[in-house]
Amino acid sequence: MVLVNPQSGRGQAMSLYTGPVLSMLTEANISHTLITTEHQNHARELVRNADLSQWSAIVILSGDGLLFEVINGLMEREDWDEAIRTPLGILPGGSGNALAASVHHYTQAGPALGEDLLLSCCFLLCKGLVCPLDIVSVCLSSGPRLFSFLSLAWGFVADVDIESEKFRNVGAMRFLVGTLLRLASLRTYQGRLAFLPAREDSKSSSISSSPASHPRSLFCPSVQCISHMQRQNSNQHECTSENTRHNSNGDDFLLSKNESKDGRLPDNRLSPIGDPVPTDWTIEKEQDFVLVLATCHSHLAEELMVSPDAQPDDGHLHLLYITAGISRPALLRLFLAMEKGTHLTCECPHLIYRRVRALRLEPITKPGVITVDGEQVEYGPIQAQVHKGCARIICG
Ligand code: ADP
Ligand code: MG
Repeated sequence: MVLVNPQSGRGQAMSLYTGPVLSMLTEANISHTLITTEHQNHARELVRNADLSQWSAIVILSGDGLLFEVINGLMEREDWDEAIRTPLGILPGGSGNALAASVHHYTQAGPALGEDLLLSCCFLLCKGLVCPLDIVSVCLSSGPRLFSFLSLAWGFVADVDIESEKFRNVGAMRFLVGTLLRLASLRTYQGRLAFLPAREDSKSSSISSSPASHPRSLFCPSVQCISHMQRQNSNQHECTSENTRHNSNGDDFLLSKNESKDGRLPDNRLSPIGDPVPTDWTIEKEQDFVLVLATCHSHLAEELMVSPDAQPDDGHLHLLYITAGISRPALLRLFLAMEKGTHLTCECPHLIYRRVRALRLEPITKPGVITVDGEQVEYGPIQAQVHKGCARIICG
C-alpha cells in the first residue's frame, strides 16, 4: 500500500510518485496500490480498519506527519501488537523528511538531498530489507497516549516547526526561514526535566547472532543484509510468542495486556504524571531552557543531523537540551554544525546531550508549543518511554 499526501511539502508528492517512484517500482516488479490521502487523519482511519493481511508493507510518500498518523492508526487497532509489525516504508515527499534522511544515513552512504534522497529511499524500498524500529509512547496530562517514531520537542525547535507552517510553499527551506526568525526573537522557556539514563553498557553490547534480529527481505525472506550485521551500536531484540519482550539492555518485561490502561505497550518505566519520577531517574534543576529535543533518529530534517549515532532500534531517546544564556551567534553556530552533525564536538557549555530510556518534561512558561513527530500536541506536562524495536521499517 503506497499512501501519498498530495498536500505535503510544496504539494509535489503526486508528481514524485508518477515520476521516479512509479518507474522504480515498475522496474523492480513491485505491485502496489496507490492511495491518495484526502484529508488529515485519512491515513490513520484507513490503516485502523484495513485488512492488513492484504499488504506486505505500508509505504508513505509524504513528510513525517503522515507516518505519525499511520503508526497511531495501527496502534489503535484491536490487533495492535500484530499490526504494528507491518513493515513500514518511507519516501521523502514532505517538507520534514527526518525519517527518510535517517534511513539513508544508516546505509552509511554520503549525504543525499531532494531527489537524490528520494532515489536512495526508493532503492532501499525495492530491496525490501526490514529492520526493527523503536516506538515511543508519549503520555500527556490528559487524553490518550500517542505513539511516536521520531521526536519530542519544546522551545526553539517546536516553535520553529509550527511557526514555519506558513512558509510551507518553500519546502524544506521553511525550517531555515523559521530558524532565522526565531533567532531574531530568541526567548527562553522555564521548566523541569527528568529522565532515566540509558545504561552505559548498552552502548558496547555485542551484536547477537540471533537471525531474527537481522533485517529480513520483504520479497525474499531468506535474504539477510550482511552490512547490517556488522553495524555497530545495534542492540538486538526479539518478541517471543509468549508475549515476553527481551532486549540487550537486560530489560525483560511482560507484554501483558492488563499492564497499561489502554491495553497497549505498558510504560513500566513511568510513574503517573502527577507523582514523583521513579528513584532511578535523574532530575535536573528547575531552569530556563532554549530548547529541549528528544529524538529516536539521526536526522530531524534533511539537513539537520541532531544525533549522529542514533540507530533505528537502539532503544534510546537521544536527548539534547540547550540552557538559557547561550548567545545568538553561539546558537546559530550549533545549528550550522548540525548540518554535518558536528555540534556535539563544539564544546558549547549550554548544550547537553544524553541517551535516555524515558523522560518527563514539565513546562512552567505558558503558553507554549510542544510537538511530537512535528505535530503540535496538548501543552503541559509530558512524559515518554521508548519501546525498543517493536515496529518494523524498510531500511538498508
Ligand atoms: P510535511 O512534511 O510537508 O509537513 P506531512 O506528511 O507531515 O508533510 O503532512 C502534513 C500534514 O498533512 C499531516 O498532519 C497530515 O495528517 C496532513 N494530511 C494528510 N493528507 C492530507 C490532505 N489530503 N490534505 C490536507 N492535509 C493532509
Ligand atoms: Mg509534517
